[in-house]
Amino acid sequence: MSLQELWGSYDHVYGKRQAVKARIESNLRTPSGFTYYTTYYEKGGSKAIKKKTGNKLRKPLAEVKKMEKTTPKTLAELQPFLRLELALYCMTRYQAIEIFPAIFSVKDKRESWDMVCSLRGNLAFEAFNNLHNLHVSVDDNTQVAYYPSVSHMVRGIEIRTKLGRYLNNFKDAYGLSEVEVKAITEKYAAEIAAKGNWKLEFIAHDDKSGWIDAYDRGPQSCMKQEEAVQVYAHSKSELRLAVLVEGNEILARCIVRETEGNRGYLRVYPDPNGTKAGIWLLNALEEEGYGDQINLNKCLLEYDGSPHEPQAPYIDRVAGGGQFAEVYYEDGKNYLRLTTDDEAQFQCDNTNGRATENERNHITCEECGSEMDEDESTWVEAEEISVCEHCLDHRFVRAYGARYQEWARDDGDVVQVNGNYYLIVEAYNHDIYQCEVSGDWHHMDEMCLTSKGMVHEDLCFNLDHEDEDGNSYAAEGDTATLSDGTKCLDTEVHDLTNGDTCHKSEASDKQAEIDAAELEDEDETEVSAAPPTIETLTTELALAA
Ligand SMILES: [Zn+2]
Repeated sequence: MSLQELWGSYDHVYGKRQAVKARIESNLRTPSGFTYYTTYYEKGGSKAIKKKTGNKLRKPLAEVKKMEKTTPKTLAELQPFLRLELALYCMTRYQAIEIFPAIFSVKDKRESWDMVCSLRGNLAFEAFNNLHNLHVSVDDNTQVAYYPSVSHMVRGIEIRTKLGRYLNNFKDAYGLSEVEVKAITEKYAAEIAAKGNWKLEFIAHDDKSGWIDAYDRGPQSCMKQEEAVQVYAHSKSELRLAVLVEGNEILARCIVRETEGNRGYLRVYPDPNGTKAGIWLLNALEEEGYGDQINLNKCLLEYDGSPHEPQAPYIDRVAGGGQFAEVYYEDGKNYLRLTTDDEAQFQCDNTNGRATENERNHITCEECGSEMDEDESTWVEAEEISVCEHCLDHRFVRAYGARYQEWARDDGDVVQVNGNYYLIVEAYNHDIYQCEVSGDWHHMDEMCLTSKGMVHEDLCFNLDHEDEDGNSYAAEGDTATLSDGTKCLDTEVHDLTNGDTCHKSEASDKQAEIDAAELEDEDETEVSAAPPTIETLTTELALAA
């Protein structure tokens, strides 16, 4: 079969033929698991090695394709699948998932499955279990579930059966006698029965009362002040409390942590060395994927703000964890962050529920009085004080001063315009002025100069007659409409003798016009009168004399 045909036949399952092919050609990391190849390959490799790598994967892929529908019953029949798995594990996970996604989706699910431990150590079973992934059925814990063939695995179909039936089916391959099958089956039944009463439960990461209650009811604790454990529980916490529950009793407990793809457990109480409950919880956590012991470094605890003795439990020193804590600001809130740094502000090694102040150089926020690391403080030049991040966020803003932005107290001395802050005394440097009508601050571009000073454009009227100072705008309420319908400043209106109004700059011209018009009217009246008679003329002359 040619390479081309081979890829073609895998399209339906693996897809992205070209992409996968390109990866095998150029990116396959460790063709045989030897570092020698890796180093050589990363330096560029040779064509021959690339070819060899490709073959290492192509061959098992083709064989697995052939065995897809069969249920392997001997190790020889299973071999192609094991070779394929090995080849896939020689690549980066990302590449391998693209080539055979089913293997990885099953492995990921395995974290949450209850595995059948009583078969561990049987080499044939371990080999088969790469394909089978035998586990306690999620729906019915009296049964087990597994993938009998590659086809089942690819399609995600599990077969549910009794453990005894499964073992009988494969007892030849596993080299088990009937007596051994019976013994394993009985032991398993006993395990299931015991587990019927003992349950693993988790107290949620933010369930304060749940945490306090579990410590209160649980095994003997060095924490006499159980209330302090509530600082473990908050919305950002990475911790949960695993507890072994029997009825109303809590027989064992252990903090577990999930962080950046890592998960692990802290310390199991009571000590697994010598207590059944401790061992049970440790095993149960391992099956849940918390197999590694982990520390609490960088873990956030709730902080009550106390500068000297904040509430804090005794922190277990396991897996290289520290017992120190520093105030850490995140998303608008201060937390205690655990650290190994012996210069951190607090030390969490008390069993009285309170941390103590660590002797070292730290500084005080001159705004709120809380303690902080020097590198978490900010110097506010304008007031010559150091403040903490919390105060900085809530009480100060970056405002434009004489030229550049600087920290300024967000109070009456600062004004916000179009999203920027300005120191009022320096605002004019940035063309920011206060509107003389509304008292609000605006950029000059949105304002007009009036007889009152700068006024926002929405509160101004255009003048038809410039005012005395040459302004062509006036503030609302300062204008008057003249007889000819034009607008001017209301203090510049002139009343004419005929009852009309005009702008005072036009007063003399207009008045002259009116006077001239009146004179003309009088002349016309005389002309239109009847000519005098002799009698009237004589009378008038007599009176004049
Ligand atoms: Zn402060």
